[in-house]
Amino acid sequence: MTRRACKQLRIGQVTVGGDAPIVVQSMTKTDTRDVPATINQIKELEDCGCEIVRVAVPDNEAAKSLAPIKRSVSLPIIADIHFDYRLALAALQSGVDGLRLNPGNIGDREQITTVVAAAKERDVPIRIGVNAGSLPTNFQPNVPPAEHMVNMALEQIRLMESLNFDLIKISLKAFDILTTVQAYQMIADEIPYPLHLGVTEAGLPRTGAVRSAVGIGLLLNQGIGDTIRVSLTAHPREEVFVAYEILRSLRLRQRGPTLVSCPSCGRAEVDIIALAEAVSKRLQKISKPIKVAVMGCIVNGPGEAKDSDVGIACGKAKGAIFRKGEVVSTVSEDNLLEALIVEIEEF
Ligand code: SF4
Repeated sequence: MTRRACKQLRIGQVTVGGDAPIVVQSMTKTDTRDVPATINQIKELEDCGCEIVRVAVPDNEAAKSLAPIKRSVSLPIIADIHFDYRLALAALQSGVDGLRLNPGNIGDREQITTVVAAAKERDVPIRIGVNAGSLPTNFQPNVPPAEHMVNMALEQIRLMESLNFDLIKISLKAFDILTTVQAYQMIADEIPYPLHLGVTEAGLPRTGAVRSAVGIGLLLNQGIGDTIRVSLTAHPREEVFVAYEILRSLRLRQRGPTLVSCPSCGRAEVDIIALAEAVSKRLQKISKPIKVAVMGCIVNGPGEAKDSDVGIACGKAKGAIFRKGEVVSTVSEDNLLEALIVEIEEF
């Protein structure tokens, strides 16, 4: 897979595009005007590996709140702006590292010109974030949705280029996965800017993770995409975990441990589902890139998980700890979890 070539830009201290690693983003779900809660959530996101955070700016008070938030966190902040270009100006004043403008609801040439001038002065990139759900109906009503989204983005890109502004990033999100994929494929060869990928309103964690994995995964596997955000109706840390899982599955990024767990079957003599969940929870606090296996039986477990670094294989009332498929110790069922964590720490 060859990565699509594009310009590189910086959002705060994070490099995006070109040969930079694909960046994981998320979005806070707190009321931005609640400064302590928002700072807290941004710190939680940073702890689980999020690299850029987007924050909603529904009004001027929220835009002003971005200043104390920005001073208290180290993750780069992107202000999410809809409807009112003056909120973009206020967010820039508050020191944000990036802007997201929705061309579906801020399209006025004069307003965009004003925002671009202020962003340029501060070297702040702008994402043109097209969303299928907020396309104006009077803009090319008979054109298919993917093309419609692309044309809308291109119109705003050309306007920004005419203002000698090229700190641009693009996203073309739709609920429909095939429309999303098609839109990104269409624009990929047309423009030299980084692309931010996402499937919008993806849903609750189970469906949202699958839908995002399919949409984002199809594009990443074609070399398209420089930043990703998995939208889930859940705490944003779940978005970050799913994003890394997608990147890990395509061998694009590795962060923290990989958990391999057998599906369990009639041979298992312990509750593997509960055990795997407990291990998964403990692994969230470990940042080492290690492959950990939780296997249901001692007969097949270690062999099936040979390419794992460490693991446990359960038997009747006890279990074996293994390294690279070789059993290194046997412990009682009660100690399995702790013994595994010790083994991981020593590995
Ligand atoms: S490791 Fe053992 S318990 Fe798990 S699926 Fe394989 S045979 Fe069944």
